[in-house]
Amino acid sequence: MKVMKFGGSSVADADHIRAVAGYVREAARTTRVVVVLSAMRDITDLLVAAARAAESGSDDFRSALDTLRTRHLEAVRSLFPPVEQAGVITPLTLMANELEEVLHGVELLRECTHRSMDLAMSFGERMSCAIFTAFLVSQGERAAYVDARELIVTDERFGSGAVDFAVSYPRIVSRLGAVQGIPVVPGFIAATPKGVTTTLGRNGSDYTASIVGAGLGAESIEIWTDVDGVLSADPRVVPGAFVIPSISFEEAM
Ligand code: ASP
Ligand code: MG
Repeated sequence: MKVMKFGGSSVADADHIRAVAGYVREAARTTRVVVVLSAMRDITDLLVAAARAAESGSDDFRSALDTLRTRHLEAVRSLFPPVEQAGVITPLTLMANELEEVLHGVELLRECTHRSMDLAMSFGERMSCAIFTAFLVSQGERAAYVDARELIVTDERFGSGAVDFAVSYPRIVSRLGAVQGIPVVPGFIAATPKGVTTTLGRNGSDYTASIVGAGLGAESIEIWTDVDGVLSADPRVVPGAFVIPSISFEEAM
């Protein structure tokens, strides 16, 4: 059993999603796989900006919502044959509409608490995972979306919830154990004991993968990232930086 986590750049668009699905399906032939995904690239930043705009009373959040819809629908149009698209677009549209209501509420209140921000941000991972799960199914794979809010329980520190492992681990085992096929779990999001949406802090999806892997006693937790390898230096600073052909764990540390 292994956990495979892919970040925002790995699910940035249809081509990347296709590639990730290939890696997952390949791995699933020989071992049980649980997938953890981030939101599509830049979507979390977009959601934060939208919530901030709404808080300031600006209607600009609606154009951010248009961008959000477009990014996801473009991926759907490229990934699915026309007959299958409606089945994916419907849940995405419902989520986008719900988010619009949330942001309208923020606009009316002129207040975006950490709690409201967590709810707004949660839509990114929920939408990327909805697309990815449907894509696996469309490829003939058994797969099921499992909302991390049913797995990971945190306290009420919205924006960086502290995980209650004693409660979360048994839920991870029982919920994921019941899934036939490949569970697809959104990174980053969790919930309080009362079921209110929280997040684990920005870039928290790696942490989600670790929590799920630890809870399941997985053999490995793979944090996939969209680069050629470990470079000899930061390529933005050192133009001649090159990919190191092999590296020991100590050297990497
Ligand atoms: N989507 C979240 C973020 O951008 C979590 C993650 O990608 O790890 O912070
Ligand atoms: Mg990351």
